[in-house]
Amino acid sequence: MTDSRITPMVDPFMRPISYLRLSVTDRCDFRCTYCMSENMTFLPKKDLLTLEELDRLGSAFIAKGVRQLRISGGEPLVRRDVMTLFRSLSRHLESGALDELTLTTNGSQLGRFAQELADCGVRRINISIDTLDPDKFRTITRWGRFEQVMDGIEAAQKAGMKIKLNCVALKGFNIDEIPSMMRWAHGRSIDLTLIETMPLGEIDGDRTDHYVPLTRVRAELEQRFNLRDSPHKTGGPARYVDVAETGGRLGFITPLSHNFCESCNRVRVSCTGELYLCLGQDDKADLRAPLRASPDGAALARAIDAAIARKPKGHDFVIDRPGAAPAVRRHMSATGG
Ligand code: SAM
Repeated sequence: MTDSRITPMVDPFMRPISYLRLSVTDRCDFRCTYCMSENMTFLPKKDLLTLEELDRLGSAFIAKGVRQLRISGGEPLVRRDVMTLFRSLSRHLESGALDELTLTTNGSQLGRFAQELADCGVRRINISIDTLDPDKFRTITRWGRFEQVMDGIEAAQKAGMKIKLNCVALKGFNIDEIPSMMRWAHGRSIDLTLIETMPLGEIDGDRTDHYVPLTRVRAELEQRFNLRDSPHKTGGPARYVDVAETGGRLGFITPLSHNFCESCNRVRVSCTGELYLCLGQDDKADLRAPLRASPDGAALARAIDAAIARKPKGHDFVIDRPGAAPAVRRHMSATGG
């Protein structure tokens, strides 16, 4: 049998680009302190691509060999009628053009949407949660309701989706809690991934106060747990270990202490159609104008090719100078986490 797969796009450093993160909104129902300032100015709704345009964009990347599509934001599930987009994109799973349609969410709306997402072929989701203590949860998210997220996790499990919890490791906030979060997650067959805080966008405080290299966290965990490197891969930047004591998997995303750019297979599109070639660089390409210029998608396809041809080698985050400005001005919520 011949393989009818489309060859993925390749960037100047010979990295195949097979993974798209598509942001559907910059808005969020939480205000996590390390992510956003309390008073955020969001884009006027009229500037957002329509759901139909987001579908055309995602489909254009799939036609160019993207095999993994992650819907993100802001909080993707607060975008009105977002399920219309999931339903239409699911045709690419049915045709075999796409391996995986997934999303990153704070979990607040999963009670409403988990079953419908599963029905659209979403098999795996990432849920962001930085603590299992309801009071600390309120502090870090400013606006979040812990019970609602717990209900969301339960609904997602009931719908049969595989869950990965993403937790940003924050000095002075949740480092002591990591072992209990790991036991809690692994006891429910949920993977846990730790993330280093990245210098993206202005926040109310100084990120250096909370940054901790995951190399240090791992070393501390190794005093108490038997961690063995795992070959497990999900297509994203996490590197995993198997934890003997819990029988579960722990991931590390280390953009600062160990830059993972050499294997980067990803690009991101914002909810206004800006293509970001690297999370940690300002360079971007406008896809909205070519998307709107040609209904047949030819101009869009050319714009995507031209942009991929200039994907940079990597980011150069530094977070070691107190008070330093963020590496890039836009927040994670603008690019799509
Ligand atoms: N609302 C969704 C969610 O909560 O997962 C998707 C968007 S959110 C921006 C995606 C992820 O980015 C979350 O796991 C969040 O914790 C993480 N994040 C936000 N700002 C970050 C930063 N400055 N450094 C590291 N991770 C960050």
